Amino acid sequence: MSSPAEQFSDDPDDRPGDPNAGAREQGHRRRRSLQEQARSTLAKKMARVAKSHRRIAKATAQRARDLEDLREWSADPVTAKLLNPDYARAGAAGPVLTDADASPRKIAAWENQEIARRTVISEVACTLRLAERTAEGLIGEAAMFAGPMKATLTAMSRGEISYRHGQVLMEQLSFLPLEEVAELEAQLLSVATDLTVGKLAGRARRMRERAHPETITTRATEAVKERGVWWEGRPDGMGTLTWYGTAQQTQAAHDRLTSIAEATRNRDFQDEAIPEDRRRTIGQICADAAGDLLLDGVTPTGTGGGIRGSVMITVPVLTAMGESDAPGFLEGYGPIPADAAREIAAGAPSFTRLLTHPETGTVLSVGKDHYTVPADLRRWLRLRDGTCRFPGCTRPASRSDIDHTRPWEHGGPTDYDNLAHLCRAHHRLKHQSLWSVTQEPGGVLVWTSPAGATHRTYPETALGPPPTLPPTPSPTPSPDTDTTSAPGEFRARELPEEPPF
Ligand SMILES: [Zn+2]
Repeated sequence: MSSPAEQFSDDPDDRPGDPNAGAREQGHRRRRSLQEQARSTLAKKMARVAKSHRRIAKATAQRARDLEDLREWSADPVTAKLLNPDYARAGAAGPVLTDADASPRKIAAWENQEIARRTVISEVACTLRLAERTAEGLIGEAAMFAGPMKATLTAMSRGEISYRHGQVLMEQLSFLPLEEVAELEAQLLSVATDLTVGKLAGRARRMRERAHPETITTRATEAVKERGVWWEGRPDGMGTLTWYGTAQQTQAAHDRLTSIAEATRNRDFQDEAIPEDRRRTIGQICADAAGDLLLDGVTPTGTGGGIRGSVMITVPVLTAMGESDAPGFLEGYGPIPADAAREIAAGAPSFTRLLTHPETGTVLSVGKDHYTVPADLRRWLRLRDGTCRFPGCTRPASRSDIDHTRPWEHGGPTDYDNLAHLCRAHHRLKHQSLWSVTQEPGGVLVWTSPAGATHRTYPETALGPPPTLPPTPSPTPSPDTDTTSAPGEFRARELPEEPPF
């Protein structure tokens, strides 16, 4: 079969007066006609793709309208009152976080508006399978599109620009005084339909800076509030730590690491004991130096002194003994290589280890220092849960409260199958909104949202019952006793080692 290039190349024999010219001309016409057909098919298929793309833009515009409708409804004081569980509860407003594992200290109850806001965010996040931060962002964007950026929303609902284009415009327009949004919005919309998202972002930034050079200060002040550090597990036993800080600080830190790496590499080069294939690259030395500084470094003012990071791993007994290469298990991450697990099990101080039965995976030991029942149970629960058990939440169990699924004051026992980790925000959400939860065997939590949707969350690690768990008497408080102080004191003895506040 000939390639398209050969098929359509100039034919050197195609000269006037050639007796085969007629046949060749016919061949050309046939090929041209086939090509026309292909182009027409391409056009039809592309029209379908473009139509779907416009439909997506229209649908995202509609989603923004629906989200804004939801937000507006929930912000109404009457609605907000109805979304507070206390509205339908008999008696006065209940205390906040009366649960066993929470501190006996109380924290202020959320206002109705705050309950309504968090109800809506959690519903949207769970239904759309989004992180709550993302859901909150979408709701905020919807309010902006439905308010000062109506023209952008209209362009989106006509399918003229995509949602991403709309977001790019919002990034530039949201820092402007409201009365000036419309003018710049109109200018940007006139070019937005012809530009990619990347090009539009550049154009929008330049146009905005020309019109409002002072806003970079405002933007920087806002942006610096978002600084933080995030950890994310990556495949193959790896992880990423992200530091979001000012451009000058992060650049200086990167420069320091690079200088350290260059000096180290020069030293390594002079050390003939290091074989060629073991020499580290600049990038590898940077990563090692950053790790050393973060894990063990102490600032001149003493920050970091005496504090060690801590992670929890489980190691199959045979792996620990060096007789198997079955992977270890890092809490909040998953499997890690046997070698790394062995090294940690051998006594690294920043790690708590648990040994597991080779076949059942049941925890055999939670370490010599943790014989007491409450501490064992806490560690067992930490390993089982890994993270906060609210749908979608990734906050580590080690930074969360332990919650009685069925409240202690309603007869819920302090037992492994009635306890689960909830981060502070979701612990409050459970107690202060119309969300409810039950626990099924195997540590499965079944959440019911205020709108009546069901969401199940599963333990991170399947474990047998904790080996040292004693029977727990079910409390039966009488209805007229003060259920806030007595159980609080009892529970403070029973569970937490450290106050959760
Ligand atoms: Zn949470």
